[in-house]
Amino acid sequence: MSTVASPAGLDWARVRADFPLLHREVHGKPLVYFDSANTGQKPAAVIEAVDAFYRRHNANVSRAVHALGMEATEAYEGTRERLARHVNVAAEDLVLTSGTTFALNLVAYSFGLPRLKTGDVVLLTRMEHHANIVPWQLICERTGATIRVAELLPDGSLDLDALYAAMTPEVKILGVAHVSNVLGTINPVAAICREARKRGIATVIDGSQALPHMAVDVAAIGCDFYAFTGHKMCGPTGTGALWGRREHLAAMPPFLGGGEMIKEVRYEGTIFNDPPHRFEAGTPNIAGHVGLGAAVGYLDGIGMAAIAAREAALLAHLTEEMQQVDGLRILGTAADKAAVVSFLVEGAHAHDLATLLDLEGVAVRSGHHCAHPLMRFFGVPATCRASLAFYNTHEEIEAFAAALRKVRRLLG
Ligand code: PMP
Repeated sequence: MSTVASPAGLDWARVRADFPLLHREVHGKPLVYFDSANTGQKPAAVIEAVDAFYRRHNANVSRAVHALGMEATEAYEGTRERLARHVNVAAEDLVLTSGTTFALNLVAYSFGLPRLKTGDVVLLTRMEHHANIVPWQLICERTGATIRVAELLPDGSLDLDALYAAMTPEVKILGVAHVSNVLGTINPVAAICREARKRGIATVIDGSQALPHMAVDVAAIGCDFYAFTGHKMCGPTGTGALWGRREHLAAMPPFLGGGEMIKEVRYEGTIFNDPPHRFEAGTPNIAGHVGLGAAVGYLDGIGMAAIAAREAALLAHLTEEMQQVDGLRILGTAADKAAVVSFLVEGAHAHDLATLLDLEGVAVRSGHHCAHPLMRFFGVPATCRASLAFYNTHEEIEAFAAALRKVRRLLG
């Protein structure tokens, strides 16, 4: 882990040195990794934690009484505790999952399916990721409920007046991204949840893109469910969590059945385990979650406030550089933004642009970013997206801007 101790004395070059992959080249150029919203890079502390788990502690969790079994269980449950502290909730209300997709499906099937009926409405915003759309469509098909969409303002922020007006008595569930993976817009989720709560609407927050960038206090947000993914916050892929209000989790039937989620099984019937284990059937991604625990420790070692401040400075620089590139259009200009910038360059398809940037060593994502409805809102099939993390540098932003100008010249 980085030895940086206090935000005041942070040496970002040393922080960057913690990430082995960032020091490689692609196409003979130094890598500029601007695709952290897709997946984040991993510090050595995380890689070593996974390695150490397999070398020294590997065993299944919650089953064996032998030493290794105890160590593995302790490490796995230790991540639950660490994550819970990180987002200010109780560990017993935190279900460890394979990521946000699983977490949101769990809410849809275990919470939505039993309570939605014909005439009910699930309210979603125009900027949701497919992971917070498709599970609700599947549940609506089975229950007769329908989906209503809350629209955006042209800058890519939520039209809050329209959102509150859409919270009619038929609305039973509201799904909102905390931070848009395409636009970077940070939504005022605490205020939104307050309004929803007044109207008896259950709130499901997709926090995938919030956790990597800022301190998140789930208790203060006042939502009913909060989902997030580990691999975007320096952790391994296949990790994540769902926090749910205790009374909801206690009342929810399991989503998947199998080992670990039971107290007693007879062929006549099964008594389920208590939450959160009720929702963790089968052998989980133990090593991955051990790595996620190390990731949380790493992020907390730096401090989320320092990370947010660092990224705000990077975003300001990035935006300024991009605005100077001829023919470049930024989609999403809300005042409150994380370091995620979608853009298009006149006369170039997003994929061609990303391919040409790749040849310059710059990794950006191109495509619909699992947000077809949002692409439709902007009237484009795809965008390029530069997404940064605290380990990026101002020099990389300059290299990116130079690559953009070169590509622009190439395109005539
Ligand atoms: N929601 C948002 C806003 C995301 O950015 C992502 C990842 N692209 C997801 C959900 C899905 O996360 P995962 O694939 O890790 O389950």
